[in-house]
Amino acid sequence: MENDCLFCKIANKDVPTDFLYENDRLVVFRDINPHAPVHILIVPKKHIRSINNLTEADNEIVSELIMVGKEMAKKESVSESGYKLFFNVERGGGQVIFHLHLHLIGGWKR
Ligand code: 5GP
Ligand code: ZN
Repeated sequence: MENDCLFCKIANKDVPTDFLYENDRLVVFRDINPHAPVHILIVPKKHIRSINNLTEADNEIVSELIMVGKEMAKKESVSESGYKLFFNVERGGGQVIFHLHLHLIGGWKR
C-alpha cells in the first residue's frame, strides 16, 4: 500500500468502488470515464508503478491480469466482437494513475 495512491485505496476498499471481480491478488472495476461501451480496469493489489517497474517476481500476476482480462471480455460479451487489452506506460504513454492497471475496452458497434 502506497500513500496517496488512488488504486491502492480502491484495492484496499478505502475508496468504495463496485468490484466486478476480486481475488487475493487483484480487483476488477469499471473505468469512471469510459472510452468505449465496455471499459474495465484489472488492477493488482500490489503497488507496482508501471510496466517499467516489473521484475521477474511479477511474472505470475502479469499473466493473471491478462487471463482475467480474457475472462472479463467473455463475461461482458465482447469476446466474439473483439476488444483491446493494453497498459499505458508513464506520462508519454498516457498513464495518469501510477499504479499498474490493464485496460479492457470493447463493445463498439460493428
Ligand atoms: P491511465 O491513463 O493511468 O492508464 O488510466 C487511468 C484510468 O483510471 C482512466 O481511464 C480513468 O478514467 C480511470 N480512473 C481515474 N480515477 C478513477 C476512479 O476514481 N475510479 C475509477 N473507477 N476509475 C478511475
Ligand atoms: Zn498503488
